[in-house]
Amino acid sequence: MPQPYTHELTTALEAVRLASGICRTVQTEMAGGVLTKEDASPVTIADYASQAVICRAIALCFPDDPIIGEEDATALRQKKNSGFVAQIQRELTQVGIEGETEDVLGWIDRGGSEQYSQRFWTLDPIDGTKGFVRGDQFAISLALIEKGEIKVGVLGCPNLPQEHTTDQTPSDNNDCGTLLFAVRGQGARQTGIDNDSQEREIHVTQTQLTEQARFCESYESAHSSHGRSARAAEIMGITRPPLRIDSQAKYAVVARGEADIYLRLPARKGYSEKIWDHAGGVLVVEEAGGKVTDLEGDPLNWTHGRTLATNRGVIVTNGPLHERVLEIVEATAREQST
Ligand code: AMP
Ligand code: MG
Repeated sequence: MPQPYTHELTTALEAVRLASGICRTVQTEMAGGVLTKEDASPVTIADYASQAVICRAIALCFPDDPIIGEEDATALRQKKNSGFVAQIQRELTQVGIEGETEDVLGWIDRGGSEQYSQRFWTLDPIDGTKGFVRGDQFAISLALIEKGEIKVGVLGCPNLPQEHTTDQTPSDNNDCGTLLFAVRGQGARQTGIDNDSQEREIHVTQTQLTEQARFCESYESAHSSHGRSARAAEIMGITRPPLRIDSQAKYAVVARGEADIYLRLPARKGYSEKIWDHAGGVLVVEEAGGKVTDLEGDPLNWTHGRTLATNRGVIVTNGPLHERVLEIVEATAREQST
């Protein structure tokens, strides 16, 4: 008997690998530049091409599964963006996927589900687009959620070395590009994006003392309050500077023990975290032995559609540090309100 979710995992790994290759090529060439969406965030042809190949792969193997993805093809249907669509098609052709315009737009829109259902996938075709545009870290994140529980999580991190993340700058050594993955109850593993020669299990640290901990956070201060995390680090007695990394590569470095804590502290009132910014990474960390909650210590709730509507912020730790980190983060909130 194969292990549960083997078909889902192999489909997800293959799709994320393909998408990672496209994203890496586009990042290197920065072909096509940046299109500004209505919310003014930068989105490149790679976001769309990545969503197209992954949604296409899931639709082929699991045609009944809805996908809650970050992108949709609305902007691409405007006539003025037809050149952009042609560039997406060219990227797909280069990895052996041929499609008419309507096929490509249809694959992208396959990721347009919004509602919670008993079984669905969630996809961030490029998480950390700002890092991607800057030439730094980014991730492709895909997860399968059943009955509100993440069952499969895959993170493609094309610029993350397979070992020793020292900063957010992509390494130019040739072991660069890591694929991390987990199935609930089966542990977490990582392998190379280009080949499987170095596949291995990954585990969080056993650090017990906050002052010995290393923490990571968003590179972008608009996505997580740097001031508040600096204060929390000060109370914890941490003197090392934070590892600032774009994207769910932060979950990757906690999962494999290169950091002990990832703090995502709301930078503005009323923001609800998007499920695709977390689901893949959360399962990888949990299966590597770590713990993930919101700022209250509650589990993340995947049953509200596109957002983590009932959670505020995200705290990720190796496990032993979790309660203490929650207390300290709570103390920083009390300080702010006085
Ligand atoms: P990071 O790479 O940690 O900076 O996170 C990137 C993600 O932050 C993007 O995919 C956005 O969905 C998300 N994001 C955008 N605005 C905010 C915000 N105000 N607070 C938290 N996350 C945000
Ligand atoms: Mg994202």
